[in-house]
Amino acid sequence: MNFDLPHEIQSIIETTRHFAKVEIVPKINAFEDSREFPYTLIQKMGEAGFFGAAFPEELGGTNAGFLAIAAISEELSRLSPEFGYAMNMQAMTCPFTIYNWGTEEQISRYVPDLISGKKIGMFALSESGGGSDAAGAMQTKAMRDGDVYRLNGSKQWITFADVCDTGILFAKTDSSAGYRGITAFIVEPKIYQGFTAKPISMSGLSNVLCSNSVYLDDFVVPVKNRIGNEGEGFKIAMNALEYGRLTVSARSVGLAQACFEHSISYANERIIRGKPIGHYQMIQHLIADMAVNIDAARLLVERTGSFMDQGKKSSRATSRAKYVAVNAAKHAAASAAEIFAGYALADEYPIKKFTAYVNMLAVGEGTPNVQRVLIAEDALGIKDANRHPIRNRLRK
Ligand SMILES: Cc1cc2nc3c(=O)[nH]c(=O)nc-3n(C[C@H](O)[C@H](O)[C@H](O)COP(=O)(O)OP(=O)(O)OC[C@H]3O[C@@H](n4cnc5c(N)ncnc54)[C@H](O)[C@@H]3O)c2cc1C
Repeated sequence: MNFDLPHEIQSIIETTRHFAKVEIVPKINAFEDSREFPYTLIQKMGEAGFFGAAFPEELGGTNAGFLAIAAISEELSRLSPEFGYAMNMQAMTCPFTIYNWGTEEQISRYVPDLISGKKIGMFALSESGGGSDAAGAMQTKAMRDGDVYRLNGSKQWITFADVCDTGILFAKTDSSAGYRGITAFIVEPKIYQGFTAKPISMSGLSNVLCSNSVYLDDFVVPVKNRIGNEGEGFKIAMNALEYGRLTVSARSVGLAQACFEHSISYANERIIRGKPIGHYQMIQHLIADMAVNIDAARLLVERTGSFMDQGKKSSRATSRAKYVAVNAAKHAAASAAEIFAGYALADEYPIKKFTAYVNMLAVGEGTPNVQRVLIAEDALGIKDANRHPIRNRLRK
């Protein structure tokens, strides 16, 4: 983090760093080798308060706020991009959507178990027809059948769907109404039949904390698990993505920082023609650009967290932060690959992994082009980025 952050945020960063160094980093390879989902560790993270910052104490949260979420996300991602993945499923897009839009009964039934890490979350919006136009491409349908809905269709790329207890899933209740026909549901794949998840193998990314293709075959969702009214799903999804963008931006900064730190060490150690490569101007060029890109991205992420903490509209700030943070991370990963040269490809160094996670963060919660469209249309006066009413129950 950049400037003098409040003492409590500094101590959250230190706690996250200590936890990640002791509990996560030494165990990552064992999880990957065994291919077992780290339920116990997710629960430990929940107990340590990593997922509770956007929730009040009566639900088991810490009420620490959005700057705190950004700080935790950045630090986790710096040390373990794999576990940074958990932030949206356990701390933001899944539980915060229930908290923001659910009934009191839905909130008390689902939120505490998600943020304590006892239950695993999911946010299922994208389909194979194109994530950038989630509403237009959505083919999944929900048909009312008495006290339940029956869902048919498929979803693509859904993180943690293979292990999910409680997720948010979007489907069309009225196929003729465009984005106004989308409805949001709280789903429980381990309780109701008709939900199948198949992990997608992706080179460089974790095989256990992973994304899935999902198939829905008369998948049952009780009517009481609908969030809001029929047709309100699109605005619920857009609101959720805004909060998701905060953690994705912060995680991008964390990854960029990791690339930077590894590059500095390597540039100081690697001797070519009798001196460390860090003494060559072209390597210094890369290091200097990484340093300032990361600083700038971090400031934009902190601005977004601060707007959210003040209950201000933050769509404009989140898009800009996401765009700049992903570019900083892409530049940092490409620079690290140049500095490490052949060793960037070797498994003994993490550069290959960082590059894969940067590419993943680039598309999550809207690709760079999608952010560009939002930013440009806003600047040109075509569509005000902050036009949607905000819903931020923590800081209402
Ligand atoms: C590892 C991983 C995990 C994910 N986890 C989840 C999850 O948990 N839940 C979930 O719902 N989704 C998830 N996603 C999906 C993610 O949100 C989508 O991949 C993303 O929205 C992009 O969709 P797409 O891949 O279908 O690309 P497309 O939408 O097909 O885009 C292809 C290209 O076209 C460009 N493009 C699209 N529209 C425009 C435009 N108007 N102008 C200019 N260019 C444009 C895009 O920028 C991109 O370069 C995940 C994806 C990955 C890779």
